[in-house]
Amino acid sequence: VKVIYSEKLLEYHSPRHPESPDRIKLIYQTLNQTDQFQFIKPTPATKKDLLLVHTSDYVNTIKQNAFLKSDTPNIPNIYEFARLSVGSAIKAAQFALKEGVAFSLARPPGHHAGRNSAGGFCYFNNIAVATSRLLYTNRSIRAAILDIDVHHGNGTQEIFFGNNKVIFCSLHQSPLYPGTGLKSVNNCYNFPLPPNTSWRQYQPALTKAAKIISCFKPNILGVSLGLDAYKNDPLANFMLELNDYAKIGKVIKKLKLPTFFVLEGGYSKNVGKCALQLLTNYEKT
Ligand SMILES: [Zn+2]
Repeated sequence: VKVIYSEKLLEYHSPRHPESPDRIKLIYQTLNQTDQFQFIKPTPATKKDLLLVHTSDYVNTIKQNAFLKSDTPNIPNIYEFARLSVGSAIKAAQFALKEGVAFSLARPPGHHAGRNSAGGFCYFNNIAVATSRLLYTNRSIRAAILDIDVHHGNGTQEIFFGNNKVIFCSLHQSPLYPGTGLKSVNNCYNFPLPPNTSWRQYQPALTKAAKIISCFKPNILGVSLGLDAYKNDPLANFMLELNDYAKIGKVIKKLKLPTFFVLEGGYSKNVGKCALQLLTNYEKT
């Protein structure tokens, strides 16, 4: 499996902030202990790429560090880091189309970023820009996005709402930040699940989402890969075990679609193991 990764994205941090460089470092180290992964460097997304999703005013606001958001720190040069993270997702999507599967191991995450808004540690919506670029370059492409981060992907939903070439499916804890995704609307299929959800409640929702994706007959699947549904995650209250991530991977693989994974959240010490469990399925072909 190709993993898009750059050490450059370890270079920024905000004191005591849960979205720390250790997250991707830990995942990198865990994946690198096996010989199943090939690491490839990303190239930054261009402004033109960003404008496929975000407004010009918004992109400039990030570029000039002219924004204020309590949970999404205004870090020097965050524009450069954020567009490298977007570029990583774009590269993963391109590899997925060519080779079947790829993983963008990058930060900052993206699924809470809307067209015109930062939030929840997200600046640009990585998976939305990567998907939009595929749609832009190939008019016949239809895409599905499956968001398994424990938080609702409100930004991704906002961006693709009503787009007949895309469906968005999200499994998330409710109540929890950002408080959206309480029901399915239009092309956005939401599966809110209560705190303490374990595989027993998670599995039927995931199966339903997989069925919806399969019926849509997409050419590509993007997975917003949050690892914060894991039982020891400090920011949420789901009860998924390590080997449940292997089961999630199996369900996704059974869809037999070119698939790119884009890292979102995940804040426990076991993020690396969760990622490895999930991606291991792709070695058993
Ligand atoms: Zn999350």
